[in-house]
Amino acid sequence: MKFETLTIHAGQEPDPNNGAVMTPIYQTSTYAQDGVGKARQGYEYSRTKNPTRLALENCLAALEGGLYGLAFSSGMAATDTVLRLVSSGDHVLAGNDVYGGTFRLFDKVLTRYGMKFDFVDTTDPENVADSLTPQTRLVWLETPTNPLLSVTDIRAVAEIVHAHPNHPLLVVDNTFATPYLQRPLELGADIVIHSMTKYLGGHSDTVGGAAIVRDKAVYEKLAFLQNAVGAVPGPMDCFLVLRGIKTLPVRMDRHTENAASLADYLAGHSKISRVMYPFHSSHPQVHIAKRQMKAGGGMISFIMKEGRDAAVKAAEATKIFTLAESLGGVESLIEVPAAMTHLSTAGSQIAVDPGLVRLSVGIEHKDDLLADIEQALDKA
Ligand code: PLP
Repeated sequence: MKFETLTIHAGQEPDPNNGAVMTPIYQTSTYAQDGVGKARQGYEYSRTKNPTRLALENCLAALEGGLYGLAFSSGMAATDTVLRLVSSGDHVLAGNDVYGGTFRLFDKVLTRYGMKFDFVDTTDPENVADSLTPQTRLVWLETPTNPLLSVTDIRAVAEIVHAHPNHPLLVVDNTFATPYLQRPLELGADIVIHSMTKYLGGHSDTVGGAAIVRDKAVYEKLAFLQNAVGAVPGPMDCFLVLRGIKTLPVRMDRHTENAASLADYLAGHSKISRVMYPFHSSHPQVHIAKRQMKAGGGMISFIMKEGRDAAVKAAEATKIFTLAESLGGVESLIEVPAAMTHLSTAGSQIAVDPGLVRLSVGIEHKDDLLADIEQALDKA
């Protein structure tokens, strides 16, 4: 089946009890058993397994070209659970432009448990080769990155990582691209991570995370951790993401069309020193982006020549773009990462430019979005 058909049907069948076309919200914590230790259809307790969540997990696996999906209560919960594959004393190599919350979890929380982290520029795969150590157990990539939209060659990094004698796991955070635009497992990644809060949910109405894998042994370890740690989403949240996914390709096409026009406009603006958009001709990794992504997606970042104050003025002057954190919903959002989503990176090696503005370009009419950004930049 093609991707567009999978988004609507994968993991979902009319309910066997009554034919309900939409997967029901199985709002239950527990399940009647046929005898002591005799669970019906493997359902015992909803932290371990829930039919609404299972439909979502199977759908996610199909979309990413994986065999197994696991849903979590947030993107960070998914990240934290995957990092529990790593033990004290192990080394993790990560990109130096990862989401601020990912950096905070690695740098401020997990280092306390004896894990060692290095953050390198993964846009040059040689940096990955040079930084792997005998203790490296996991390599964490984000591409395109939040907030700089840097692009890493997943296949090139996968080859380097898999040639290492330790066989570290390669994890790719695919939140910005979504499986419609990029499928890291097909390029050699071992685990794909998502914040489902973003494009998969698509309507800014729920928080969720996911991990998708191909290898049964890795899946079994993660499923054990998912149940043992317990950071699972409720059935209502799973239903909302399942519903959101049904329109993912249609939404991503419009996000991309709108963002590509805005990127062209911003690149020619006199108050802007640099625009970051994966498919824009000025992007340093545009050739890699075009090779591994179907389109550029809905996220754009740009740097105001006049720095922080101009960035703040622009972000506070929009009328259709809402000043807010997060991204990937149908509505357009604007933010200043250094003061908002990436505040936790301040003073660190991955701190972002204070003049940086990030747009999550929604699916409104592009003329209205262009006019809104134009008038906001006039005031900056
Ligand atoms: N990964 C990326 C790229 C993100 O942008 C985010 C959140 O913004 C996360 C992970 C964390 O996801 P969540 O906010 O659902 O915990």
